[in-house]
Amino acid sequence: MKLIDYHIHSSNSFDCKTSIDEICKKAIDLNMTEICFTDHFNEPIYTPLDVETYVSEVRSAQNKYKDKLIIKCGLEIAEPFRNPDEIKVITDKYDFDFLLGSVHNVENKKLRLYMAKKERLPIYEGYFNEVYKIAKYADVDVLAHFDLMKRYALDYCGNYEFNYFEERIKDILSILVERKIGLEINTSGLRSSLKETFPKVEILKLYKDLGGEIITIGSDSHKSKYLSYGYEEAINLLKSLGFNHIYKFTKRVPEKIKI
Ligand SMILES: [Zn+2]
Ligand SMILES: [Zn+2]
Repeated sequence: MKLIDYHIHSSNSFDCKTSIDEICKKAIDLNMTEICFTDHFNEPIYTPLDVETYVSEVRSAQNKYKDKLIIKCGLEIAEPFRNPDEIKVITDKYDFDFLLGSVHNVENKKLRLYMAKKERLPIYEGYFNEVYKIAKYADVDVLAHFDLMKRYALDYCGNYEFNYFEERIKDILSILVERKIGLEINTSGLRSSLKETFPKVEILKLYKDLGGEIITIGSDSHKSKYLSYGYEEAINLLKSLGFNHIYKFTKRVPEKIKI
């Protein structure tokens, strides 16, 4: 089985201490085929990504490990609909392989702060409204961790019921399919008390039913020990839903890989 991970953070992200070199070495140890770095960009509160340094470190690693590992250079862009013109300047300049779009903030607050003193339904409604904006307006390749809100809300007010939000979720997925934006299976939920992927299996199933095909798998690792975590489980889940491929990207062009 080809091990491919399309959501990886390095020490260029404000919340990660692991160097690009350490991650590459670990990926080679694990016999991985391809990795894509997706450091945090456009985070409103934290130290901004030094894009120049980040990209040059990835380019050096690509050179150093070119015979052993395919290394791609991507970004995880928080709320990419917020300032599209500024983002475009950067993405044009650096010619990234892959752009993930994420909701990390609602009402200009980190998710944990945003949900404080709110009830469960409005918490999720407000969050999915932001996800809708990515689907509708953002120039990204794949939507990251569709239902990330549940990670923060779980202990506070519980997980959400798919059936309650089905129509809203269907709207979002339909736009993703129409705009050829992919959906990520983010396996980081499998290593938390949630014990489920982002998104829930029902969302993956609905995406498939609506004609969606572009799926990437990402560990969202901030430590090298989590590289490709839950990959096999994600592949098995996809197969059980009738998906035959996952995707990788080069200069933002998708390419399917048989699973
Ligand atoms: Zn994220
Ligand atoms: Zn991430």
